[in-house]
Amino acid sequence: MRYAKPLEDLIEEFRKFPSIGPKSAQRMAFALLKKSPDQVSKFTRVVEDAKSQIAYCSQCFNLSSDQLCNICNDARRESSQICVIETVKDLMALERTHEYRGLYHVLGGVISPLDGISADDLNIQALISRVQALPDWTEIEIILAIGLSTEGEATMLYIKRLLENVIARNKSGEAIRIRVTRLAHGLPVGADLDYADEMTLTKALEARVLA
Ligand SMILES: [Zn+2]
Repeated sequence: MRYAKPLEDLIEEFRKFPSIGPKSAQRMAFALLKKSPDQVSKFTRVVEDAKSQIAYCSQCFNLSSDQLCNICNDARRESSQICVIETVKDLMALERTHEYRGLYHVLGGVISPLDGISADDLNIQALISRVQALPDWTEIEIILAIGLSTEGEATMLYIKRLLENVIARNKSGEAIRIRVTRLAHGLPVGADLDYADEMTLTKALEARVLA
């Protein structure tokens, strides 16, 4: 016994979302059908607006409705510090600590050969280009704040090696010293950064160590 085709299609669309199984997809579809036509119109409009107005920041790949996100655009942020994270969710987790005042770089994931994700699928080359275009500094810090899974560790090592070979020069022609650090231990192994509570994250950030 199957539902009518339009309802089957709706359930199928919800199932395409992460962590949504068949039961949840059904519940969401039925909840949507219970809404008034006005409520459904508002819902579709919000979805369309979000999709058409939100894109990636051209510098750090945070989600943004402008070419540069509000963090990259904020002159009070410390532009000699770039914190490298997997996802925008991790960026939000670090922002919630109110401890970090530098900029970010969102990779879009970690290198994972088993899932078919290579370095070229991530925003790694953009990070290298970004580091080479920081002419105002004699020293910069790249903080690797990637989850402590096997893939996360491999990704941090890969980026660290790339950064070791980067030659960047400042306005005066001096080589810019690139310090690569990582969060201190104490974060749960294998979990995403945004699972850590704010105190743990703050401590890991304060006590960061050379990578
Ligand atoms: Zn940005």
